[in-house]
Amino acid sequence: MSILHSSIRELAAQLANKQLSSLELTEHYLQRIEAHNPQLNAYIRITAEQARADAQASDARRAKGEIRSPLDGIPMAHKDLFCTAGITTTAASKMLENFVPPHSATIAENLAQAGAVMTGKLSMDEFAMGSSNERSAFGVVHNPWDSKAVPGGSSGGSAATVAARLVPYSTGSDTGGSIRQPAAYCGVTGIKPTYGTCSRWGMIAYASSLDQAGPIAPSAEDCALILNAMASFDPKDSTSSQDTLRVFDNLLNQPLNGVTIGIPRIYFQGLDSQMADNIMAAAKVYESLGATLTDIELQNTDIAIASYYLIASAEASSNLARYDGVRYGHRCENPDNLQDLYRRSRSEGFGEEVKRRILIGTYALSAGYYDAYYEQARRARRAILNSFTAAFTECDLILGPTTPSPAFAIGSQTDDPVAMFLGDLYTVAINLAGLPAISHPAGFIQHLPVGCQLIGPHFSEARLLNLAHRFQQESDYHRQIPAAYAA
Ligand code: GLN
Repeated sequence: MSILHSSIRELAAQLANKQLSSLELTEHYLQRIEAHNPQLNAYIRITAEQARADAQASDARRAKGEIRSPLDGIPMAHKDLFCTAGITTTAASKMLENFVPPHSATIAENLAQAGAVMTGKLSMDEFAMGSSNERSAFGVVHNPWDSKAVPGGSSGGSAATVAARLVPYSTGSDTGGSIRQPAAYCGVTGIKPTYGTCSRWGMIAYASSLDQAGPIAPSAEDCALILNAMASFDPKDSTSSQDTLRVFDNLLNQPLNGVTIGIPRIYFQGLDSQMADNIMAAAKVYESLGATLTDIELQNTDIAIASYYLIASAEASSNLARYDGVRYGHRCENPDNLQDLYRRSRSEGFGEEVKRRILIGTYALSAGYYDAYYEQARRARRAILNSFTAAFTECDLILGPTTPSPAFAIGSQTDDPVAMFLGDLYTVAINLAGLPAISHPAGFIQHLPVGCQLIGPHFSEARLLNLAHRFQQESDYHRQIPAAYAA
């Protein structure tokens, strides 16, 4: 089995039977990164020395029979939103261009404990605000299936790197779709766990009531193994859940008989017919595996985008107030006074989209407008959660497209932020409700991948991974590698 086509389990087996050492595997991937990253522009920083040291430590553990998990010795990369002690962490912003955190995010620490080999930090939309990776201060990331198309966002670097097989897996974060949408655009699998499953400690905050970390990898089985290591109860994050699953791969092979999949009619109204055909074909695969399909109502789908962009911007405006040029982050030259220091440091450090969100959020929270905007959005959020709860009385899981269309062309939506917001139709409601959802590859339209999304009740990750895994045993979309990266 070639390295590129191997799953995490298969790589772990090759390491276990000494066909390969972790150092050899790491050198293989470092060469791929060096050869292909210039076209993709997915890495903000490559940490080759760190990777070699991690790999050698893994090989030394293996020699002593002290392997920690199936991830031990396997290369990966982090979205540059997760703090990594001693290694620059930028959130793809000029604001944090030179920020070297003294600590690592809990999820980075958890993966390191499981034996992960870190090859570097991946590009994203600045502060995770965006859907195309065009908002990175380090330049656009290209979609491996078509270099003129966006990889999606905000975890565009994470999805592109995995699609091009520059690493077997990566981490991402999802506030309103940022794991699932780029996974869909790049033809890989990504899961956003239930809010509170992966610690937010050390993850640079965008909208704290929505932010959630998760894995991106070719397959659902890979994602399950990564989540086993990433998820933990963390007293350092006050919203970390004690009820979270600890094991995510225990249901992978369960039969689907008796599972009812709800298909919201509203998801297909006005949907491009090729998208609809791909998604219904995926639903049929689930049916052939024993699941029952049923038409459902899903109320309040239409208010999700407005509610999300209000709440996310409001939280962003308060989270990003900390970047004032005083304690850390970009500081302007020769300020005249304190006001000038704040104003110029923030004007110079933040990009256009981040400024737009801070302005929207500050306005929405300001005295006199709070009730009209923020409070309304909060009510809408509650109604959206209630609609999902009602839908889950009729079905176990919900199926639909991850996005309204495949990846769009670079530059085609940059002047129209609202058009870009509308592309988040299928993903943002899930974050507002705190639910888990997975996106898995479900075919192609011309040469561009399409993602199918499954949404479940809180703490149903093992079930979602089970379904996607069974689908992937019947299909090979997730095994396809873009031609330019296949050798
Ligand atoms: N596209 C959405 C936004 O721009 C979602 C981003 C995310 O999930 N981080 O806010």
